[in-house]
Amino acid sequence: MKEHLGSCHCGAVKFTVLAPLNIEVTECNCSICSKAGYLHLIVPADRFRLLQGKDNLTTYTFNTGTAQHLFCKTCGIKAFYVPRSHPDGYSVNLRCLERDGFETIGIKASNGKEWETQYPLGRGSFT
Ligand SMILES: [Zn+2]
Repeated sequence: MKEHLGSCHCGAVKFTVLAPLNIEVTECNCSICSKAGYLHLIVPADRFRLLQGKDNLTTYTFNTGTAQHLFCKTCGIKAFYVPRSHPDGYSVNLRCLERDGFETIGIKASNGKEWETQYPLGRGSFT
């Protein structure tokens, strides 16, 4: 495990996430993830630390309102958020992390478009 540094585009929002050097992220096909090109690295809340920019974040919700989509007010980038599948954790956008901190990155598909099929128990588990 290592602390990986991440930020939004303008740099107002900065954070770290504790994750292995070899990771597998998910690419989701749901309405919002597919439009954003978001790559999910999902971690328990205690492995995520916001360093700066709390006041620069704004929240967007839709559908069940469980997911808290957090965007930088200045540059519009969603660098991390609270996902519907893991409301007690964070999904960090791999695209907003410093890539050279990882050795290997795998990408697997997630079928968020058909929520009940992907998450028959109503939520996902942490790996
Ligand atoms: Zn920003």
